[in-house]
Amino acid sequence: MINVMQPTLGQEELDAIKGVFESNWIGKGKLVSDFEKMYAEHLGTTPDHVLSTNCCSEGLFSSMHLMGIEPGDEVIVPTVSFVGAGNAVCVNGSKLVLCDVDPRTLNARAEDIEKVITPKTKAILLLHFGGIPCEMDKIMPLAEAHGLKVIEDCAAGVWSKYNGHALGTDGDMAMWSFDAMKILVCGDGSILHFKNPEVREKADKWLYFGLEAKSGYENSVAQKWWEFDISAYGHRAIMNNVTAAMAIEQFKKLPMFMKKREAVHNAYNEGLKDIEWLDLPLPLDEGSRSSFYFYHIQLKNAKRDDLARYLRERDIYTTYRYFPLHRVPHYGVGGDFPNADYAADNTLCLPMHQSLTEEEVQVVIDKIKEFGKMYC
Ligand SMILES: *Cc1c(COP(=O)(O)O)cnc(C)c1O
Repeated sequence: MINVMQPTLGQEELDAIKGVFESNWIGKGKLVSDFEKMYAEHLGTTPDHVLSTNCCSEGLFSSMHLMGIEPGDEVIVPTVSFVGAGNAVCVNGSKLVLCDVDPRTLNARAEDIEKVITPKTKAILLLHFGGIPCEMDKIMPLAEAHGLKVIEDCAAGVWSKYNGHALGTDGDMAMWSFDAMKILVCGDGSILHFKNPEVREKADKWLYFGLEAKSGYENSVAQKWWEFDISAYGHRAIMNNVTAAMAIEQFKKLPMFMKKREAVHNAYNEGLKDIEWLDLPLPLDEGSRSSFYFYHIQLKNAKRDDLARYLRERDIYTTYRYFPLHRVPHYGVGGDFPNADYAADNTLCLPMHQSLTEEEVQVVIDKIKEFGKMYC
């Protein structure tokens, strides 16, 4: 079976975890702050803008509280979004307002967002589809003009850049995912970025019960260490040294992962370029960099489901992300989203991970061509 996504883990991660076992402290500790520092540098910023948490979805949920979004406020979310984005808005008692997306990139554009802004709009929760940057040069001025917070779901954008800087650093808050299906994986884990360090301080408390001093896990208080003080209520959503040890080793491998993913991307581009019934991913804007999380093709002949089945019967697994939220009845948000409908019905994400061999990529290309000869 050729997987659509797959982690790459090895002896280095095992050795690092062994070291955590031997240290006898598997909870949140030095490795977590080491990882936060590494990631801050990777984003081109300082640690006072960065905080880890246990998963990217926690970042989405917490963004509502941290950005001051209240029940009744409207939050704009592209209908092609991760389910956690929709849930974050609804759990907060806020109103989920969906917008359409670009039919090719599956990213919301400023024009899509502008159409659904009302006086009650408080924030935009953007998704950078597959780590491909949205047009932040148009979205940020629009948000500023209307006084809206910008939250960026960069879950798959671990390597992405926009206009020469790290993706996720334009908006007020952003989050990255290191779950089992992402590029850098550590089981579960996430980094959050805050434009304002004061919000990062607030988040630090919010993600650990609202505790003032961290005696709970740092144990550095000299006396009466059982006493505590809280200044607010909060969740308990932190990384630990086991997952951080994995994350650090994976982080070191990131440039190598990216080289491989880019090679797969280029091989697909080359192998599929002459197929007239296919649209391939668009080239990126100047100054942007992708994380090559998806390789999404679009069928112009309404045969996406047939191709997915054809490949699956030949042991090639593909998928479509992200099922549009307007098609989920429980959200109760109807409306006309023609581009998202087009994307959801015609887009297929091909196998894309750093363990794919050249031969496997060639098999995928050959089978797509074979399908074309028989049915297109
Ligand atoms: C994976 C993913 C998430 C959630 O990440 P977790 O770390 O699993 O909570 C959020 N948004 C997008 C776009 C994702 O792909």
